[in-house]
Amino acid sequence: MDRRRLLQAISGLPFIRLLFGASTDAATSPFRRVRPGDPGWPSDEAWAELGRRLDGRLIKVKSPLAQCVGAPFDAACAEVFKELKNPYSLGDEVGLTQSLGWIGAWTSEPSVYAVAAESARDVAAAVNFARTHNLRLVVKGGGHSYQGTSNAADSLLMWTRSMQSVVLHDAFVGSGCEGSVPSQPAVSIEAGAIWGRVYDQVSVKAGRYVQGGGCLTVGVAGFLNGGGFGSLSKNFGIGAASLLEAEVVTADGDIKLANACTNPDLFWALKGGGGGFGVVTRVTVRTHELPEFIGIAVGAIKAASDDAFRRLVSETMRFYREALFNPHWGEQLSFQRGDVLSIQMVFHSLSRDQAEAVWKPFFDLVRSSPQDFAFVLPPQVQAAPGRLIWDPAVLRTIPGLVIADDRKGAPEGNIFYVGNLGEVGRVWHAYQSAWLPASLLEAADRDRLVDALIAASKHWPVTLHVNKGLAGGRTEVLESAKDTPMNPAVVDAFALVIAGAGEEPAYPGVAGHEPNVAEAQAQAAAVSAAMNEIRKLAPQGGSYVWETDYFEPDWQRSFWGDNYARLSAIKKKYDPDGLFFLHHGVGSEDWSADGFTRLR
Ligand SMILES: Cc1cc2nc3c(=O)[nH]c(=O)nc-3n(C[C@H](O)[C@H](O)[C@H](O)COP(=O)(O)OP(=O)(O)OC[C@H]3O[C@@H](n4cnc5c(N)ncnc54)[C@H](O)[C@@H]3O)c2cc1C
Repeated sequence: MDRRRLLQAISGLPFIRLLFGASTDAATSPFRRVRPGDPGWPSDEAWAELGRRLDGRLIKVKSPLAQCVGAPFDAACAEVFKELKNPYSLGDEVGLTQSLGWIGAWTSEPSVYAVAAESARDVAAAVNFARTHNLRLVVKGGGHSYQGTSNAADSLLMWTRSMQSVVLHDAFVGSGCEGSVPSQPAVSIEAGAIWGRVYDQVSVKAGRYVQGGGCLTVGVAGFLNGGGFGSLSKNFGIGAASLLEAEVVTADGDIKLANACTNPDLFWALKGGGGGFGVVTRVTVRTHELPEFIGIAVGAIKAASDDAFRRLVSETMRFYREALFNPHWGEQLSFQRGDVLSIQMVFHSLSRDQAEAVWKPFFDLVRSSPQDFAFVLPPQVQAAPGRLIWDPAVLRTIPGLVIADDRKGAPEGNIFYVGNLGEVGRVWHAYQSAWLPASLLEAADRDRLVDALIAASKHWPVTLHVNKGLAGGRTEVLESAKDTPMNPAVVDAFALVIAGAGEEPAYPGVAGHEPNVAEAQAQAAAVSAAMNEIRKLAPQGGSYVWETDYFEPDWQRSFWGDNYARLSAIKKKYDPDGLFFLHHGVGSEDWSADGFTRLR
């Protein structure tokens, strides 16, 4: 064995790290993870042995797109492209991800092998194998990363899709917290579950509320790693604020519990640190009382002139401040090119009549100026009992609301919102976000806010996601967010502004379905121009780690603010050798962009 391989082999041993520090290899040549063909790549026998240890749950990965690259676009490829618009099909496919890429940033690439883990022990076996053989390791749950952090060429994939169990508790106390922390109603969820399944178990079947994501096919563990917002986060908090305990496999292959009493530093990092601290195998999150009613208020209004649009935006923000800036309301107000305002709001704990009464003054004002304003989507307020809101059988009966997984034998519960269809199989051209402080809603500053929203919307649509800023929320919501690593700006923000652009499924090398690079560049420039107008309002506002720009400058501050130093120390403690690298993850500044070469 040569000196480099000897050092690599022994560098996993704790006493060697104590003697020489983590950069043993860096002292000789840059530390590199191995790729197929490299001398250090595991032998076929080593892979076979791993497969045996996993009872066959080791998969040699091939992307369904591979057959279409550099080949005529035939009927088989047409079928592949059809499935790229089905989020369940994408989720079940080991070689694909929900986004197909981001032009100029990343392209979805299959791993060489994947471990289809069924337990924490499977995960630990794979972590040990990856560490020992110096492999690039990626983790995929729901596969919804915009940043491409759940795929990497030449890697070993930890795939949690099979880990689906959902168990409710009437009174849960974290391990080691007995006697010091009161028990809570909770639900334990294995890492591979998607939120739609959890809502079915927790809300439809058990009549409780759990704070997950808006999109039904987002993965539970991935979502919580970034903090996670749902429509009602101003009332129930970020998803991770409800986390009571996580089971995690750390880089040393140990299966640990993390909660407020056991490994509390790791627990804190898992509540919004953006992943990269270990493989989460199970989470237990608090459940809450299910609101009696949950509903929507939607509509779209076109203004007849720029002056009229200015009045409309100004009235909208005044109305938002006075009537909607409270724990009842979440979701979106969108300002679009052509002087259009689109309203897609969600409320809870108000009846339909009560919610209509809230909106009446605003809709009356719009109706009273027909020369200035026209509804391009008639206003509508609807409410339903909380228990029915996620019931697939009910949702399927509402025209235009959901699409069913149309694969043969697909479970009845496999549905997704029409509103998420555009994001399925998307190739991103741009995606940016910024938090806006609630002070901008006050009379003294509101004109600045209105001017910026209008100026931005001339370049590209910008959307206020008011559930992704916690200001206006319950005091407990604000306090619980402060006990997470998220950028503290989230507590003072009334909204996260998002602007994104992309195209329908496309893949490099597929005839007639190549990504449109010229259009991507033009749209990326327009999104930047729009968001630059917004950022003038809060230049240091920060951005949400899971819904952000791949090229986010100063990302450490942007995602985590002053919490970065503490996160960085925790990363060094639990993953000193950067096994869980991810793009713009904590500690990734020490690595090359592809995560294969340690730079320092
Ligand atoms: C259509 C769509 C809708 C969305 N809606 C919302 C929303 O309503 N609210 C919101 O806050 N966000 C939303 N997001 C963002 C979403 O929360 C993040 O993309 C999240 O990371 C997705 O998790 P995942 O498991 O589906 O994705 P994956 O791509 O599988 O994982 C995302 C990241 O988490 C890591 N990860 C996954 N599982 C584990 C694990 N078990 N242990 C350790 N690390 C893990 C991955 O390595 C990766 O870095 C949405 C995204 C999309 C595409």
